[in-house]
Amino acid sequence: MSKVMLVTGGSRGIGAAVAKLAARRGYAVGVNYHARPDAADAVVAEIHQAGGKALAIQADVSQEDQVLRMFRTLDERLGRIDALVNNAGILETQMRVDQMDASRLLRVLSTNVIGPFLCAREAVRRMSPRHGGQGGAIVNVSSAAARLGSPNEYVDYAASKGALDTMTIGLSKEVAPEGIRVNGVRPGTIYTDMHASGGEPGRVDRLKGVIPLRRGGSVEEVAGAVMWLFSDEAGYTSGSFIDVSGGN
Ligand code: NAD
Repeated sequence: MSKVMLVTGGSRGIGAAVAKLAARRGYAVGVNYHARPDAADAVVAEIHQAGGKALAIQADVSQEDQVLRMFRTLDERLGRIDALVNNAGILETQMRVDQMDASRLLRVLSTNVIGPFLCAREAVRRMSPRHGGQGGAIVNVSSAAARLGSPNEYVDYAASKGALDTMTIGLSKEVAPEGIRVNGVRPGTIYTDMHASGGEPGRVDRLKGVIPLRRGGSVEEVAGAVMWLFSDEAGYTSGSFIDVSGGN
């Protein structure tokens, strides 16, 4: 029987790369999407064409009822979850803090912190032997911004990823005795649509000069790090972070 993975925000960017790599490595993959069924269906079709198993599942991860429904669908259609990738995240337009209102921070925290919290909680409820499970692993997709702070651009986003990192550490210690490992990956500047949503499509190229490796990263380079954390080779790694940020 295939192991089961859920990738939130799996219809494009880093999430889609993780979903495809996981399917190639034998996982049955739940490809969560928020608003674009066509994009999620395309990822699922690509996995099916390559002989893998995948299912598109709609949910806004910030909404508890939708997360509960997503996990019930995963249970029924693919089986009990073994691996969760909390990848869904949002970045709003670049802005100095003196221009930001609190509603923006609440939106960012809802998707980037409450979403991963709800999904991790539902995963633990299935993975933990306390609930009849057999362990598992969770990877939270954070950001180099959690360490760097993103001054003059997105301190709200950086704060949300800092909160996610702290949750990763606390959760990892809480559930390690139950055979569940929790780790984080912190991408740096990766070529995806996220930078366009941040209001500057050419941002990756503009930042090349401050990246020690002098280039943006690919989604495959992030997906490889995520998948290593699910491998047997990472069996003694929990509460850790892999920086995939070109040396920053
Ligand atoms: P992206 O914008 O291409 O993908 C984000 C995905 O999350 C999209 O599929 C989107 O629909 C989904 N999503 C957003 N809100 C959601 C919600 N409420 N419920 C469900 N899905 C939702 O961006 P990406 O670069 O692939 O980002 C993936 C992750 O990597 C994010 O957590 C992001 O913060 C992180 N990250 C990206 C970079 C980068 O340079 N691209 C750098 C550091 C961290």
